[in-house]
Amino acid sequence: MLTSIKGKSVIVTGGSKGIGRGIAQVFAAQGAKVTLIARDEAGLKEAATEMGGNVRYEIADVGDWNAVKAAVDSTAKAQGGLDIMCANAGYFPQTKIVEMDVEEWDSVMACNLRSSFLAVKASIPYFEKANKGRVILTSSITGAVTGFPGWSHYGASKAGQLGFLKTAAMELSRYNTTINAVMPGNIYTEGLQGLGQEYLDTMAASIPLKRLGAVEDIGNAALFFAVSYTHLTLPTSDLV
Ligand code: NAP
Repeated sequence: MLTSIKGKSVIVTGGSKGIGRGIAQVFAAQGAKVTLIARDEAGLKEAATEMGGNVRYEIADVGDWNAVKAAVDSTAKAQGGLDIMCANAGYFPQTKIVEMDVEEWDSVMACNLRSSFLAVKASIPYFEKANKGRVILTSSITGAVTGFPGWSHYGASKAGQLGFLKTAAMELSRYNTTINAVMPGNIYTEGLQGLGQEYLDTMAASIPLKRLGAVEDIGNAALFFAVSYTHLTLPTSDLV
């Protein structure tokens, strides 16, 4: 039997736009208390207002430990703990290796990969206290499954999230907490629109349904990983 997420405390990083907004909308519609995290306050305010009374926001750069910790602590205070962390924020500048500078490589790694570590690290005290928790990372097919010119750093960061997840799953098991990743293909978001119409058309044409994915598709996949199986008692790993 699957339990409801009504009343659960949820954080969605990158929740003001795109896939994160889709995840937040699905969770809020199920009655969860949701906090959106992003950098731009106007975007956060607009998204939270549209989603209604159970949705609030915190401003933070997901690659900055002090900012992430402060946002998670403040959310736990406001929402009575933390049940579900959706570490979704990321970005995908397209630059070929020959033209890429070290700063761009590091910036993509901080936003897309370091952020997964920081989100989990900041959440652990709340999972430990409640002896339960759920983490859902937004990875990608790029990196783990495929490549694309200009996305060497992006692909490495997205494959890196899956490497992080495998050990994190072992370490989180002692808090009765699971961690999973969604690996979207091309989803119609503000970020993807920034790549231009030609890219959108080419990608849509390559998909059997001849359309890009919708943010709600990923929101529903995240919801699946967030609910609890009440008939299962998770074993504590002997390794950690
Ligand atoms: P998007 O439309 O550009 O939205 C990105 C969101 O993340 C915004 O809310 C943005 O808000 C926030 N954000 C970006 N950098 C941040 C930072 N440093 N700190 C805090 N928040 C930050 O992007 P998207 O297409 O939805 O992508 C979201 C995630 O899905 C990413 O991890 C991406 O790799 C993954 N993904 C996307 C696709 C796709 O086809 N769209 C496919 C596979 C995987 P602010 O700018 O205000 O901070």
